[in-house]
Amino acid sequence: MDMYYVSTRGGDEKKSAAEAIKQGIAENGGLFMPFRLPRITQEDLEKLVPMNYPARAAHILSLFLTDYQFEELLKDCEQAYCEDKFPGGPAPITDYSDKIKMLELWHGPTCAFKDMALQIMPRMLARALTQTEETRTALILVATSGDTGKAALEGYKDVPGVKIQVFYPVDGVSNMQKRQMAVQEGENVCVCAIKGNFDDAQNGVKKIFGDAAFNELLEQKGYFLSSANSINWGRLCPQIVYYISAYCDMVERGDLAMGETLDVCVPTGNFGNIFAAFIAKQMGLPIGKLICASNRNNILTDFLNTGVYDKNRPFYATMSPSMDILISSNLERLLYFLCGAEETAMHMEALAHSGKYEISKETRNALSSHFVGAFCSEEETTHTIKTAFDNGYLCDTHTAVALKCALAYAKENEEQAANKLLVVSTASPYKFAPSVLTALGQEIPENEFDSIDALMEATGTKAPAPLLCLKDKKIRFEQTIEADAMESAVLSFTKSN
Ligand SMILES: *Cc1c(COP(=O)(O)O)cnc(C)c1O
Repeated sequence: MDMYYVSTRGGDEKKSAAEAIKQGIAENGGLFMPFRLPRITQEDLEKLVPMNYPARAAHILSLFLTDYQFEELLKDCEQAYCEDKFPGGPAPITDYSDKIKMLELWHGPTCAFKDMALQIMPRMLARALTQTEETRTALILVATSGDTGKAALEGYKDVPGVKIQVFYPVDGVSNMQKRQMAVQEGENVCVCAIKGNFDDAQNGVKKIFGDAAFNELLEQKGYFLSSANSINWGRLCPQIVYYISAYCDMVERGDLAMGETLDVCVPTGNFGNIFAAFIAKQMGLPIGKLICASNRNNILTDFLNTGVYDKNRPFYATMSPSMDILISSNLERLLYFLCGAEETAMHMEALAHSGKYEISKETRNALSSHFVGAFCSEEETTHTIKTAFDNGYLCDTHTAVALKCALAYAKENEEQAANKLLVVSTASPYKFAPSVLTALGQEIPENEFDSIDALMEATGTKAPAPLLCLKDKKIRFEQTIEADAMESAVLSFTKSN
């Protein structure tokens, strides 16, 4: 049957996958969800085992994107996940111990897991434009505090029918992240630093999206606005793939017998990555517990333990910045799944008004049958990086949060016949070299780029090529603008070629 998408907040809106990806968010402010989830059986898994990653991806994506041609999906996946972009493979598994395996999702062009979705999503959007006979150019606007901007730029560069413009706070990203964006290649990209903080950048982008007159003006120039953020179904769907693929790899490696239950631990911010694992479980992948690992901003841990979501609390800037979030947008999709559209709409309304909501007892029971909430303090993050390295595994700060929670969970469940545990590793340690160096008891060099060399020297490992060659790339974008000049920056970008 053909797949269509509905809003997590109810209503009659029904969209094809192509339309949902183009539109990003539902008309009533909800997120798009497939109206039902496809199933994968053990027989299906057995067929996937001998395939490579792009073939597995095309098969799994085609269950959700029934309006796309399989051959085109396969071609797109082969290009998105090729050796050139992901040297050594897109999602390799390495051993931490007998019981604990690491799923490394950071071998792509920007060295963090967002590449897994942002390498394929632009191709899905390009197909959607053709399929819906779109004549306008899609203009992607992104406000970023670091990782997302670079991953989106790499994904959308030179995609036909699309232009991308990224705004970041001039003093709100690391020097490494700044350099990554400043040297961005591609004919359809633009990067602007703004004077202000991340909220100023984000509010500026939101204002542009909401400005009817400005959108009309863009329309006349042959553009429409689109977004690349993690609430788009096009970002979520490709993340389901690597859980199913990892299971196949573990069967192939002899880590699991086909059908054996696997627990999964995910370092979580916006709840996108772990929700993709939940979908894989609902489709029939033998996953047991999903361990939701947070940093000091442990709003999700509290939610899972008490059933109360309350964002009225201090916000901490941590050494795992991509998880510093107080509103986990994709949690809305889980609520929809567990308690339906009506209750979800009610909770989202309460969240917007008072920053707080409480789920019912039944929903809470359903929640705790799947999820375990855990968190890791700053000291524990540092400590885990050190002990993991002594144990033979070098990890970044985000991965360390998950590893700590996984180790604690494994210890608590030592007595029972515990499942194997897959820990998701989301960034290269070299992306957060200064924090990793500190954890290893090393001095941080004054120049951030020297910390890459220092980390290689201290650990005897090699930095990924995209970070190593940053120093030598030509700087293309040096512009810093006032926060209230973002609209005119967009206009001048539309005028360029
Ligand atoms: C974005 C990000 C996360 C959090 O993922 P969510 O899908 O937002 O939960 C974790 N680690 C790294 C390195 C990230 O970039």
